[in-house]
Amino acid sequence: MTDSEGTKHGAVPDGTTVFDDGVPAVANLDPALLTALRQAAKAAADDGVEFVVNGGWRSPEYQARLLAGAISRYGSEREAARWVATPETSPHVSGNAVDIGPPAARTWLSRHGAAYGLCQIFRNEPWHYELRPEAIEHGCPPMYADPSQDPRMRR
Ligand SMILES: [Zn+2]
Repeated sequence: MTDSEGTKHGAVPDGTTVFDDGVPAVANLDPALLTALRQAAKAAADDGVEFVVNGGWRSPEYQARLLAGAISRYGSEREAARWVATPETSPHVSGNAVDIGPPAARTWLSRHGAAYGLCQIFRNEPWHYELRPEAIEHGCPPMYADPSQDPRMRR
């Protein structure tokens, strides 16, 4: 896969921000998630914090490749499932999840994200955020320990 082909499938060039409409990983995110991210990123910028996108929308092919890599790295499908979802279950493939860095941005989101409906979902993935609109009024729901605990992953 060449770089530009990879980008078409959701690989993220270094330094991509939530404002980069030319990057499919950003442009193919759920519009409501993207709107919330951009509002939060503007507020964070006022605090001197920049959001970098390390992962966003991914094609099913790219997710399958990431899963295969994780299975060989972690030695089993069961262990890999704690970190990487399948193409059928990944919220990245449906455009409903984003991986944010650097650590300062994650710290900002952990403090202020709920006000935008942006919630960390898995305790073992402090970079992974999804939209939970009800969080604006009620705060973020309790986190799952890891993706293998999430009922969405057991389809
Ligand atoms: Zn993620």
